[in-house]
Amino acid sequence: MKYFSTKNKTVPFSFEDAVLKGLPQDNGLFVPEYLPQLDADFLSQLSRYSFQEIGTEIGKHFVGNEIETSVLNKIINEVLSFPAPLVTVEDNIHSLELYHGPTLAFKDFGARFMARIMHHFNKNKNKKLRILVATSGDTGGAVASGFFGLSGIEVVILYPKGRVSHYQKKQLTTFGNNIQAIEVDGSFDDCQRLVKLAFLDSDINKVCSLSSANSINISRLIPQSFYYFEAVKQLNLDKNTSLYFSVPSGNLGNLTAGLYAKKMGLKIDKFISANNANDFFSNYLISENETFKESVITLSNAMDVGAPSNFYRILGLYGSTWNNIVKEINPYVLSDAQTISAITKCYKDNNYILDPHGAIGYSSLKSYIKFNKNIVGVFLETAHPAKFYEELERKVPFKIPIPTELQKLNELKEVYIELSADFESFKEYLINTQ
Ligand SMILES: *Cc1c(COP(=O)(O)O)cnc(C)c1O
Repeated sequence: MKYFSTKNKTVPFSFEDAVLKGLPQDNGLFVPEYLPQLDADFLSQLSRYSFQEIGTEIGKHFVGNEIETSVLNKIINEVLSFPAPLVTVEDNIHSLELYHGPTLAFKDFGARFMARIMHHFNKNKNKKLRILVATSGDTGGAVASGFFGLSGIEVVILYPKGRVSHYQKKQLTTFGNNIQAIEVDGSFDDCQRLVKLAFLDSDINKVCSLSSANSINISRLIPQSFYYFEAVKQLNLDKNTSLYFSVPSGNLGNLTAGLYAKKMGLKIDKFISANNANDFFSNYLISENETFKESVITLSNAMDVGAPSNFYRILGLYGSTWNNIVKEINPYVLSDAQTISAITKCYKDNNYILDPHGAIGYSSLKSYIKFNKNIVGVFLETAHPAKFYEELERKVPFKIPIPTELQKLNELKEVYIELSADFESFKEYLINTQ
């Protein structure tokens, strides 16, 4: 399998290059040259495969001959060491719980896979690899956890000051060892801009060997496609039922991975792009308007992205044709007030606790399927509700239990560096700490 930049279809890259570089020099994004068509028997008999076997069956097409299947299988067994259960919330509405990993958010899947793939490719080199990651909250913790203690690799996390939750900040700043946290006086988009500029800066690249760990890294997306198959396996629908996936979206990585799953042959009828007030993509689906927006702060902070990078991967997948994209994806937008109502009502009606991101997925899904009994819907429950305990505590009329993994973080000391959002100070930091 070869990889190309979204901006240049003539220069091929290996999987190793695409993963280790993270971003091509032309400021595009790496994409696979094609999406593999999965075997018809595999697709019709998913229930015979374990989650790990599903991962290996799909993953082997993306790594091609660069990683032996037995090695890939071992990596995938380590990555998928926790389940992705499908839980029925109410008639025809299922929650795909993606928060059973170490940092209690779906980003563990991508981060754990990427960390092990990078480690695999880097382990015979004598060069320290530095991973830069901009995070709106959950990515950084997942990436830190994924790379923690791996030799020869150092992680630099940039997060926006005052815009991550109590437990997210704990997860970002308490690892130590090969993990460094930087608190940026700015927004997530500022953090993302700093990372992009660092990759394009020749002074930095002369002294540092950099890689990126955002959802812009193609190795993050690959394992995110696995759980769409795992969900369909658990649903075991008959052929005539329409299946909708509602995806709470920010940087559009999860949605892109779902579209990949469909292109590989998984029967999915529609996607819903479930957005908070950062509604660039829903707005695009409605109006064909491609103008990015400034991000605004919401309760579902991991979706506070004004300029989603993966938009260009989605465009590429459909030949940049809006008509084809709107056939696959429906828009939906929820305010913070509507998010709180959804969490409250879902708890009252179903005794099921949603996190603010999953709540947007749930509500969006409900609005599409309520008039059509032939549709079965799955929403991605992308984080454990306790991660947003502080934000929710005073707003919902019930208690949110805190898992012990989170409680333990309160005892650890936070270590981080504070920087402004201008590029020069970040550049200086990177060069001086190399
Ligand atoms: C990152 C994140 C999202 C948004 O996912 P994208 O792939 O960036 O669209 C949604 N929910 C949670 C909890 C997240 O951490």
